[in-house]
Amino acid sequence: MKPASLVPFATLAPVQQYLQATEEATIAWLEDYLRLPSVSANPAHASDMAATRGFLVERLKAMGLDDVQLLDGGGEAAVFGQWLGAPGRPTLLIYAHYDVQPPEPLELWRTPPFEPTTIGDHIYARGASDVKGATAIALAVVEAFLRVHQACPVNIKVFLEGEEEVGSRSLRALAERHRALLSADAVLSADGGRASAEVPTINTGARGNAQLEVRLRCAHKDLHSGRYGGAVRNALHEAARLVASLHCADGTVSVPGFFDGAVPPGEGARADTAAFPYDEDAFFADVGAAPHGEAGYSARERITLRPSLDVNGLYGGHTGAGGKTIVPCEAVIKLTIRVVPGQDPGQIIRAVAAHLHEQTPPGCTLEVTELHEGARAATLVPAHPLVRSAEAVLTRSMQRRPIHVRLGASVPITAIFKETLGIDTLMFGYNLPDEDVHAPNEFFRRSSIRDGMRDWSALLEQLSHFAPADFTIAMAEET
Ligand SMILES: [Zn+2]
Repeated sequence: MKPASLVPFATLAPVQQYLQATEEATIAWLEDYLRLPSVSANPAHASDMAATRGFLVERLKAMGLDDVQLLDGGGEAAVFGQWLGAPGRPTLLIYAHYDVQPPEPLELWRTPPFEPTTIGDHIYARGASDVKGATAIALAVVEAFLRVHQACPVNIKVFLEGEEEVGSRSLRALAERHRALLSADAVLSADGGRASAEVPTINTGARGNAQLEVRLRCAHKDLHSGRYGGAVRNALHEAARLVASLHCADGTVSVPGFFDGAVPPGEGARADTAAFPYDEDAFFADVGAAPHGEAGYSARERITLRPSLDVNGLYGGHTGAGGKTIVPCEAVIKLTIRVVPGQDPGQIIRAVAAHLHEQTPPGCTLEVTELHEGARAATLVPAHPLVRSAEAVLTRSMQRRPIHVRLGASVPITAIFKETLGIDTLMFGYNLPDEDVHAPNEFFRRSSIRDGMRDWSALLEQLSHFAPADFTIAMAEET
């Protein structure tokens, strides 16, 4: 459908001037927001969570959003508001979360965690970096368009979750229950940070994952090692052999079919990974670990572009104090699988289970349980309007082409929005890696607020050059 009402929206400059002129008010609002101890993990903060919702409802109404309301999914409600005054233009769901991590240990804070304190460029407070700072950016930008032009370049739905720091327990139920209200062409997330303030990056995806629990039984009960030892199979010996069969000596996964479907990293992805500011020596030295893994790939490539398989736990027999002369009858192995674009996690789970069954000796039984149904790798194709828009904006503002980066760990909200609403997410957060997220003395940079407002306003304008159908076409190209 070709929207007749589409007029060029080339009026970004007055919006950016407004954002600059009102920067102090934006920071003052952020400080009020940071004073609210919205700790989702601690039930003692239930009334603070409610107060935070009330504070956000007032803000969304005051900035001119419609249908402002709380969305209930069975846990902490989300705060929602929308502006749909741009028919024919794309609809962006702006995501952030209003809950924060607990502030403990309090004695390690140099300033009170819920009394925002500015020192130089840093604003110290729990939640400043994760993710109230970037939320202030996103809301200020939408408000600036509505104040200056009485219109946004695209349709906007604001969705602020209350359970991100406790595993987004009810997000899936909430998204399913309110599917119609949340329907959009794409998600723009204020959560998810920048790799560096100098080198622009665009997050184009993350590995998917699956989790298994394996139970191996070799006898009806634990046996006396004097009466049976040497004549029967020991469940722990067999479990150790099973675990050893999962990898080659160099660390490459040796399970048949494990790499099936994995799209080999292209030239572009490898060049981007090499260009990413990343100190490999420091990466290992920081954690006191040594490099180990699939030959032919850098550490960064191994954790972002290649599948992996890890044993997370292995136990059985006597683990208490002192000795116990038994031949254990049962062993448990816990596994995590990380998959890359092109792979079906269900198929990889079946390949691992088939390999383990094949390796199980006669007389022993193996039971494989999926702990986590598995999520595919998230991918934004280069032609996706989110990627093209972010590329245009960052190239202009940073004077260099952004590097496409992928994450090694999965991003739950990305998978949930893709599965429930069928749409892609761009992480466009403005925090930086050194801001002590989840730790004492968390801070956000005032300069990031300035950079973020400049880039978020340009991004919304840039996205208005696409039609809603462009988002559907781009998604069809994803693997
Ligand atoms: Zn967090």
